[in-house]
Amino acid sequence: MNNKIINIFTNETDISLETRAELTKKLVDRGYTVTEESMEDADLIICIGGDGSFLETIHSCKFPKSPVIGINTGHLGFFQEISPDCLDQFITDYEDGQYSIQDLSTVKATVTTLDGRENKHLGLNEIIIKGRQSYAVHFGIAIDGKPLERFSGDGILVATSSGSTAYNYSLGGSIVDPRLDLLQVTPIAPMNTTAYRSFTSSILLPAEVSLEIYPVYDDNRIFILNDGKETGYSNVKDVKVEVSDTMVHLMRFKNYDFWNKVKTKFL
Ligand code: NAP
Ligand code: MN
Repeated sequence: MNNKIINIFTNETDISLETRAELTKKLVDRGYTVTEESMEDADLIICIGGDGSFLETIHSCKFPKSPVIGINTGHLGFFQEISPDCLDQFITDYEDGQYSIQDLSTVKATVTTLDGRENKHLGLNEIIIKGRQSYAVHFGIAIDGKPLERFSGDGILVATSSGSTAYNYSLGGSIVDPRLDLLQVTPIAPMNTTAYRSFTSSILLPAEVSLEIYPVYDDNRIFILNDGKETGYSNVKDVKVEVSDTMVHLMRFKNYDFWNKVKTKFL
């Protein structure tokens, strides 16, 4: 008998549901307790789907302390490592301890409104700060409290290393080896004219540095997106973006190689 609890999350595609049924049977036969409800003390969280489902699982489990592994039935599957054809190998490697844990950094935004209230948002891929509707934004940007530039454009994206291959990459940002702990600040459609001057490429910040963004002119309404989830604010004083203490503990098996993944997914 085995007293381990395994939490399984899945999206609703046929292949994901079939994979869950097959995996659950194999695990129950080996004595595991398998649940589909979020459990704080789960020994392992398994997410079946694509990267979108992985992000969903991380958010619905409130950035869990338990290790997480993804089974890829989705499109891209950057976080997702295990193929649904290799469930037996996965269980054997798991039981033999043939894995390591990759601690992924997350990025935190603290929004302070003019009445002094603070709200926090956490992202595994990125935090985006943009204007309401389709208006251009004008932000002051400071690094560790020292003003750097006045940004004009659609918005600012701040990616973690593991988020560098997502939206950041579509915006022309760089792919970052996850062994580097940094924040990548990537402009979204920066305006760079004689009227407005903004950096047009990404800037990289070490993990211990924070970035502050504050509305200039009269408009202090913004949208924050953490991993694609949108929250609107009015009366914003400033937004502080920094690496959070919270980490996501991703299980990695012996054949995992980041650059091989990049090669097969992007080239
Ligand atoms: P979505 O709009 O359904 O997916 C956007 C695509 O991003 C999917 O193909 C997804 O992979 C992929 N993706 C997510 N995280 C990734 C990562 N770390 N590395 C490489 N690719 C990644 O939204 P979603 O599935 O809920 O994911 C939310 C994320 O979408 C956001 O955090 C943002 O980074 C990204 N996004 C990208 C764009 C863009 O590139 N123009 C626009 C909006 C949002 P799967 O197919 O495996 O799900
Ligand atoms: Mn998706």
